[in-house]
Amino acid sequence: MLIAMDAQHQLVNAATADRQSDYHCPGCVQPVRLKRGAVVVPHFAHVHATDCDAFSEGESTEHLRGKQQLATWFATSGYTVRLEAGLPDLHQRPDILVQRGTGQPLALEFQCSPLSVARLAARTQGYRQHGYQVFWLLGRPYQRQLHLNSKALKFLQYQQRWGTFLLFLDVQSASVRLLHHILTLDAEPLTYQTSRLDTRSQSVLSLQQLTPKMSSPTLPSAHLQRYYQQLLVARLRHQRGFDVLQADCYQRGGTIAQLPSWTMPTTPQVPLLSVPYLVWHAHVFFALRQRPGCLTGPQIKALLWDQLRPLLARRACLQSRGQLAQQLIAAMIVTLGEQQVLIQRGTDWQVNSQQLRWGKG
Ligand SMILES: [Zn+2]
Repeated sequence: MLIAMDAQHQLVNAATADRQSDYHCPGCVQPVRLKRGAVVVPHFAHVHATDCDAFSEGESTEHLRGKQQLATWFATSGYTVRLEAGLPDLHQRPDILVQRGTGQPLALEFQCSPLSVARLAARTQGYRQHGYQVFWLLGRPYQRQLHLNSKALKFLQYQQRWGTFLLFLDVQSASVRLLHHILTLDAEPLTYQTSRLDTRSQSVLSLQQLTPKMSSPTLPSAHLQRYYQQLLVARLRHQRGFDVLQADCYQRGGTIAQLPSWTMPTTPQVPLLSVPYLVWHAHVFFALRQRPGCLTGPQIKALLWDQLRPLLARRACLQSRGQLAQQLIAAMIVTLGEQQVLIQRGTDWQVNSQQLRWGKG
């Protein structure tokens, strides 16, 4: 912990604490000792072994340094900063609580250790329900090559100007890295763009005002469609959901390779699903085969949602997941129209059985 209570019940930062005084843990009020030396980040530790709820020992150097860096960064950017402030109404203690003027308070969590998605969801919802905004910044254990099964993805957040994004803090260089417009296309590596800010020379405001331009992804051209489809099927073979999908296809008299070409994803999408997008599209194919004739707009939306919902990944920090899912459904209706799977008849849609046949494979 970076903050302790002195004899006058004042909170003191370990960086400026004096060695002669007695200090107590702000959580359990047991005595703590100042640790400061040439190599250690100044911090406090309980004198005796304790089962303190507020502060567990074994906080990493990275975590201690990162918290101080963030505190300094926000303070020099004009924020009121409280380190390790206990929030009694939530029973939560964010690493840092910042506020600019009378704006909405923002909880910053610098995560360097494992955290279950259930705990992450509970903490994130706790903040939001009590009127706090929350940002998760990820430390070194999460800074590996990003892929669809990365532990980092459960921290995925969304805002209009950054799309789906993640924030990382690199304590070595005291810099914040923003990975924005994180997108997935089946059987391809995740794509994203990166912006880096030096917390020693750039203010928090320059991060908030960052409006990166989204470069448009490249798509396979029409004449490569068939080749792309074969490649996709071959690559997906080892991914989650493939065997189940193959079994689902067999049950309905086909194979994955025989799925109609309109089911093959060709546009990068937000990483919302726990399986490839092809699985969702195939399920739409199956469902439409069961519903010949005409469907109303709301019926189409309900059908697409019913197929999508069980495939959504748990994204504990993604407040706009429902909204993003609605965007996926709207885009899917456009695609189904373009591909003549659905033909518009006034306000209704005619299901085109020509496009609902198994291919040759
Ligand atoms: Zn304690």
